[in-house]
Amino acid sequence: MRSTREQTIQRIVQMPTREALLGLIRDEEYHDDIKRLAGETRDRIYGHRVYLRGLIEISSYCKNNCYYCGIRSANRNALRYRLTPEQILDCCRTGASLGFSTFVLQGGEDPWYTDRRLCEIIRSIKAEHPGCAVTLSLGERSRESYRLLYEAGADRYLLRHETATPGHYARLHPPELSLEHRMRCLAALKEIGFQTGAGFMVGSPCQTLEHLAADLIYLTELNPQMVGIGPFLPHHESPFADFASDPSMATEVQDPLSMTVLMVALARLLLPHALIPATTALATLSTEGREKALDAGANVIMPNLSPEDVRGAYLLYDNKASFGTEAAESLEKNRLALEKSGYIMDMSRGDYIG
Ligand code: SAM
Repeated sequence: MRSTREQTIQRIVQMPTREALLGLIRDEEYHDDIKRLAGETRDRIYGHRVYLRGLIEISSYCKNNCYYCGIRSANRNALRYRLTPEQILDCCRTGASLGFSTFVLQGGEDPWYTDRRLCEIIRSIKAEHPGCAVTLSLGERSRESYRLLYEAGADRYLLRHETATPGHYARLHPPELSLEHRMRCLAALKEIGFQTGAGFMVGSPCQTLEHLAADLIYLTELNPQMVGIGPFLPHHESPFADFASDPSMATEVQDPLSMTVLMVALARLLLPHALIPATTALATLSTEGREKALDAGANVIMPNLSPEDVRGAYLLYDNKASFGTEAAESLEKNRLALEKSGYIMDMSRGDYIG
C-alpha cells in the first residue's frame, strides 16, 4: 500500500504546477519520500549504475561576465589558460586508456575556439576513439555554430539555464546576457538533435523557493535529456564574495546541501529518463554530497581529465574539488566508493534511454 504522502507526490509530479511543487519544496515532511522515490525511479530505468564522463576543462578564458563565476571576464586575477587541440586529444587518449567513453569538453566562452577549430577537434576525437560520445559545454553560440558542431560529430551539449526567472537571471548576469537568449539556445540545441542538458544553481544570491519551483517547471517544458543541478558556491573575487554576510544577496535556501539533493530528486521524478550528474560543486560543498545525490536519483559523475597543471586554474568557485574521487586517475577510488554504496560504476557511453 502506498502512503498518502507518496500518492500526493506521484500526483504532483505527473501533473506538475509551480504552486504544487512549491508546496513540496516547503513541506519537509515530504522530503524523505521524494528522495526515496527518486532513487527507485532511477533504478527502474537505468538500474543501480552510475555513468562516468571524463571532464576536460579546455579554457579558462571567457568573454562573459556572469557575476557568480570565478572565470568571468572582469576577474583580472583569474589564471587564464587554453588547451591546444593536441592537448585536448592527449586528455582524451589518457581518458580512453582509463576506459572512459564519454569526453566532456567544457570551458568559458572563448572566441579562440572557432567553429572550424572545434569541428576539427571533434572529428579527430571521433576518428581516434570510434564509438565514443563527445559532450560540449561551451556556452551560447549561434544556431549555425551548434549545427556545424553537431554535424562534426558532437553528441551532447550542456547549457544550464541557471535560473528560469527573468528578474533573477538579471540579478546574476550582466545586461548583455538574457534568459530569453539562453532559452532560445537550449531550444535550438534540442531541435538540432543534441542530447541537451539544462540545469541551475541552488542557493544563488537572491534565490527564492519560488524561483526553484519555476526552474523545475521549465525543465518539464523543455524536457532535456540531461539535468545539471549544483549548489552556488561563492568565489572570493566576484561581486558575490560577501554573499554569506550581505543581506541584500540573501537567499531563501537555508541548507544548500539538502536543497540541492531535493532538487536532484524532484528533477528525477519529473524527468524519469534524464541523465543527472552528482556535481563537483556538491562534492565540494560536502564530502557526503555525491552519495546523497546518487541516493536521490542522480546517475552520472564527471571526474576531471584536465591536465593536472591547469586544474587549479579553472576555478569557478572557491576550494573546487579536483582531486580524490573528482580526479579521473582515481578510478579505483571511484569504483570502490561507488561499490561501497551499492552502485555499479559504468564506463560505457551511457546514452539517454528515451
Ligand atoms: N561557459 C559555459 C556555460 O556558461 O555554460 C560552460 C562553463 S560554466 C563555468 C559551467 C557552469 O558552472 C555554469 O553553468 C554554472 O552553473 C557553474 N558555475 C559557475 N560559477 C559557479 C559558482 N560560483 N558556484 C556554482 N556553480 C558555478
